This record gives sequence, C-alpha cells and structure tokens, in this order.
Amino acid sequence: MRKKIVAGNWKMNNDLAETQALISDLKSSVPETDVAVMIAPAFTNLYSAFQSLKDSNIEVIAQNMHQESKGAYTGEVSAAMLKSIGVKTVILGHSERREYFGETDELLAKKVDAAIANGMKVIFCFGELLEERKSDKHFEVVKTQLKDALFHLSETAWESIVLAYEPVWAIGTGETASPEQAQEIHAFVRNEIADQYDQALADNVSILYGGSVKPGNAAEIFGKPDVDGGLIGGAALNAADFTAIITAF
Ligand code: PEP
Repeated sequence: MRKKIVAGNWKMNNDLAETQALISDLKSSVPETDVAVMIAPAFTNLYSAFQSLKDSNIEVIAQNMHQESKGAYTGEVSAAMLKSIGVKTVILGHSERREYFGETDELLAKKVDAAIANGMKVIFCFGELLEERKSDKHFEVVKTQLKDALFHLSETAWESIVLAYEPVWAIGTGETASPEQAQEIHAFVRNEIADQYDQALADNVSILYGGSVKPGNAAEIFGKPDVDGGLIGGAALNAADFTAIITAF
C-alpha cells in the first residue's frame, strides 16, 4: 500500500539557529499521524536536525546529492556521507536543480542509481514548464522525464522511489495547479508506470504534488485519488502552516 507523505523542502533557507528554532516549533506542533512527515534542511544543518529529530516522527532528508561515491568533486556531497549522519532519503531532480545547475534526466538517472545502490530512498521531482503546458506538451514532457531518469530501474528499485509532480509554473509563484490538473497528471503517470512495469507496482508508488500548496488548498488537492501527499516549499518554513497542511490529510 502506498504511503501518504508530506515533505518540506527548505531550500537555501535557515541557518543553524533558525533550523533549530523551526524544528523545536515543529516538534510541538506536528501531531502523531499516519502521514509520513519529512523535512529537508540545508546540508550544513542536516546533522543537527537529524540529532534533534531522531526520536520523533519527522524524518530528516536531503535536498540533493552527487552521483559519485567520493573523489575530486569540490563542493559536493555523496550518498555515503548522507547515510553516515543518518539521512536515508534524498530529493532529486527538483526544478531548481534542473534550471540553475543544469541537471538533466540522464544525470538524474545516475544520481537515482547511486542513491538506490546506497540503500537510500528518492523523492524524484518532475514537471513541465509554463510554455510546455500552454503548448499542450505537458504529458509528453513528464513521460520523457520519467522514461529517461527512471524507467531503467528494476521493479525492486521502485520500492525506493517516491514521485513528486511539480509543475514549474506553480513553484514559489503562488499559482497552484488545480486539484483536477494534479489528478490528471498523477493518473497519467501511474498509467505510464503500469504500462512499463505492471499495475500492482504502479499502485504502490506514492505520487506527491508540489507547487504552492498552502493550508487553504491542501485538503482539496490531497483529496484526489492519485495524489498521495505534497512536497512543500514556502509553506514548510512556517511550523503552523506546515502542520496545517499535514492535518489537512
Ligand atoms: C518546491 O520548491 O518544491 C515547492 C513546491 O515550492 P512552493 O511550495 O513554494 O511552491
């Protein structure tokens, strides 16, 4: 059975003191729930965050990692390094990584393989640009992203994959895909996975929606049958809003 997940992507926000303060607020506000709750602080704060939350129901995850295991890759962090501080899940393919750091699906395929080889889980982000949606290419775009980055994986490897549909035009813009638009893509993606693998595998993959999810729209989006939760940016930086999104489930 697929999991319900709400994950907060903190991006390049919050220094150490701010990270500790937000974690302290989250510890008192996030309820016991059947929703898997995750937060992704910056690399510099992962260890401290992990230590503060290791006995809680909030998992600390990473925003990115490098595909190689070690070596002369200045400024990068490997899967083994993340694992060594207790981090077991990594976000890969966020549109900001694609846009500002030139990450392609071919590169992401290698990152996904490295994460899985290290026993980590992946939240894999994909989604179309505004011009691709306007020219009705969104189905084709997301299909290519999944095919190029993920369809080489074995059935077993898919147990470590969570998908996050994040239409780029809805990220940080205040503009949200309608619940119907989200459902349409999520159902399409599940169908593509079923065609490539089988229906049972497709039914087990959690597909999150990301893009301006707020306390006020979360319940309606999460109410759609193929939406299994959310990847939250801006609203994850406020404990009350993040908690309200979790309880909206
Ligand atoms: C994100 O960056 O993954 C995201 C969904 O951001 P926001 O919620 O701010 O649109």
